[in-house]
Amino acid sequence: MRAIATRPGSGRAWVVDVAEPELANADDVLVEMLRVGVCGTDRHVMEFPPRNERALPAGDDFLILGHEAVGRVSQTGSGVSSLQVGDFVVPTVRRGCGECAACAVNQADLCFTGRVRERGIVGLHGFLAERIVERERHLLRIPADLDHVAPLVESLCTPEKALRRIDNARAHLPVDGTLHGVSRALVTGSGPIALLAVMALRLRGVATWILARQPASGPAARLVEDCGATYVPLQSVELDHPQAALGVFDAVIEATGAAELSVAMLDVLAPNGVLDLVGGPPERKPVPIQASALGGMVGRNLTILGSVNANMDDWRMAVQDLMTMRRAFPGGVEALITHRYAMRDVELAFERRPGQIKALIEIAEK
Ligand SMILES: [Zn+2]
Ligand SMILES: [Zn+2]
Repeated sequence: MRAIATRPGSGRAWVVDVAEPELANADDVLVEMLRVGVCGTDRHVMEFPPRNERALPAGDDFLILGHEAVGRVSQTGSGVSSLQVGDFVVPTVRRGCGECAACAVNQADLCFTGRVRERGIVGLHGFLAERIVERERHLLRIPADLDHVAPLVESLCTPEKALRRIDNARAHLPVDGTLHGVSRALVTGSGPIALLAVMALRLRGVATWILARQPASGPAARLVEDCGATYVPLQSVELDHPQAALGVFDAVIEATGAAELSVAMLDVLAPNGVLDLVGGPPERKPVPIQASALGGMVGRNLTILGSVNANMDDWRMAVQDLMTMRRAFPGGVEALITHRYAMRDVELAFERRPGQIKALIEIAEK
């Protein structure tokens, strides 16, 4: 069967012919893949040489890419009880280390050892293949009419976890309501994760602003304004003192991974505010920070937290929210998918294009 693979460090991906996957365990499920999203993580995997011997699947010198996926069940093992042939499923990505307390209870997003594997990213082949086999517990059944946008479930589970973490961080406050009193929120970035974070906040009735580099006339700006959020171009904000242009927020989700922006966001947190970083700056470099920003953290009871990946509850919430978003913001979810490619167009699919939000590879398309 055909798959799309890379050799980490090669900077490229190509179509390979690999053996058909087969059911090996009673709870294995064979899934016919329908479509798979591509993102910056894939490009990162393609560009950087393997960090250690765990980077590639055992015995292979290549990695099948793809972690944002949807498919249809075509065969089930004898022990599978919750899925049937024909069901649409989204596979989760991270697999536990097998050693720590978090992974033991299926919460690999909280792994203590860091020795996790992720399908299509590290140590395990991904979903950019005609067929995959996966354990029943790592597959999430989705409604049939969601399948054309379902790779976005993976993107949305990141903001879902961020919102859950923000809610937890504010749980001690003597206020009720959405996320314990979040009435104004800010999201930075204009990729799928940022835009889905805006939609998730708007679904919950939170007044939401988004700060991003794209011009105010671009597709991302139109999309968030259609959801009732306010788009602020980054150029219009002085990063030394962003509060002057933006005001203050009870919660900020930083999804660009730009270190300077992450630090600047401390200035716009209201008392008891929470800053959740979901885009981790990869580079090693010093970033200046005003000492008073740290004083402000104390004086205003601020919380900075980072959140990665998601647990099964977040994945389920992502499915539910994606359905609600399609009703609440007609056409909004579909507008996030700006490009669709066939497998043979693999080179095009991994290029970054102006105006691109999410590109999908349609597996069945010849
Ligand atoms: Zn991704
Ligand atoms: Zn672990």
